Amino acid sequence: MGLTLTVDGPRWRGHLRACADATPGLVPVVKGNGYGLTPGRLARRSEWLGVDTIAVGTYEELPEVATRFPGSLLVLTPWRPFLPDLDPALATRVIHTVGRVDDVDALLTRQPGARIVLELLTSMQRHGFSPRGLWEAADHLRRHRARLEGLALHLPLAQGSHLGEVRRHLNDAVGAGLDGLDTVWVSHLTQAELASLRASYADFTIRPRVGTDLWLGDRGALSVTATVLDVHEVERGDAFGYRARTAPKSGHLLVVSGGTAHGIGLEAPMGESSIKARASTLARGGLDAVGFVRSPFSIDGKQRLFAEPPHMQASMLFLPSGAHVPEVGDEIDVRVRYTATTFDRIVVT
Ligand SMILES: *Cc1c(COP(=O)(O)O)cnc(C)c1O
Repeated sequence: MGLTLTVDGPRWRGHLRACADATPGLVPVVKGNGYGLTPGRLARRSEWLGVDTIAVGTYEELPEVATRFPGSLLVLTPWRPFLPDLDPALATRVIHTVGRVDDVDALLTRQPGARIVLELLTSMQRHGFSPRGLWEAADHLRRHRARLEGLALHLPLAQGSHLGEVRRHLNDAVGAGLDGLDTVWVSHLTQAELASLRASYADFTIRPRVGTDLWLGDRGALSVTATVLDVHEVERGDAFGYRARTAPKSGHLLVVSGGTAHGIGLEAPMGESSIKARASTLARGGLDAVGFVRSPFSIDGKQRLFAEPPHMQASMLFLPSGAHVPEVGDEIDVRVRYTATTFDRIVVT
């Protein structure tokens, strides 16, 4: 019942193991909704994988994973002075990301001995130090006798090679005279780029932070289904739904599980949406010409149309007459964005 994620356990674990074996220094990222699989489950899987560190997105996410994974916990969002004090029980396990000179001093004043990774401002332009800022950070670290856990580089998703940019940052960092610098935490590098970095910076430990390619890297191990909750036959002109719109032709209304609360959105994530495609359906008098929008639910391999925008926990689909009509209780396929979906059930086979 409900919106269900089914995981082919042996296949998924096989992929995780292969990914970990191919990625020395792997740091699994378990943030947000845990890529649809929940952060708690990913934390336990990370222990099973045998890694020493996992990464969460925010400080708020620490409690949920800290009880399920025994190792170090890297927080990806940079520390800020307005954050509440850390649970003292986690003080030695948490690795803070710091991205501003003043925050190095503020954090070490508040939590002497804090474990710190310095984030560098990359072409993402999100957070982090400029090369000049690194010099000042190095001074603060020395003054506090702090434990530098390395540098962090958050790179844009691959568009050509990142290596030039990584080399430039590492050379800046080495030039800034950071004592004890021996680790670089990176994101979104390919296996080839990682191998090349390891070869050119052999005295550095490279720690790839990976989420999507690890947890969702073998999509064939995952399937998402919704349950048909109700089926109603309608004639052209029959009214239905919250706004009493009328059926444009005869067919069936299907009520299926999965709505806005699950993250089901109006547009299918990868639907054909080019203006040209739309124009041709309009010309054919297709159902989207009368305002029906493609849904992420499919029946018999065909993506179906929403009869109206998704409700909170269910959606209404329109099935024109002639189509095979599923029965109440049948499961139908759904295409979702895993990072934006909350499932009612996760079944690992
Ligand atoms: C989310 C995140 C990652 C993981 O990204 P994926 O694309 O899911 O692998 C890595 N590094 C940082 C800094 C992130 O915020």
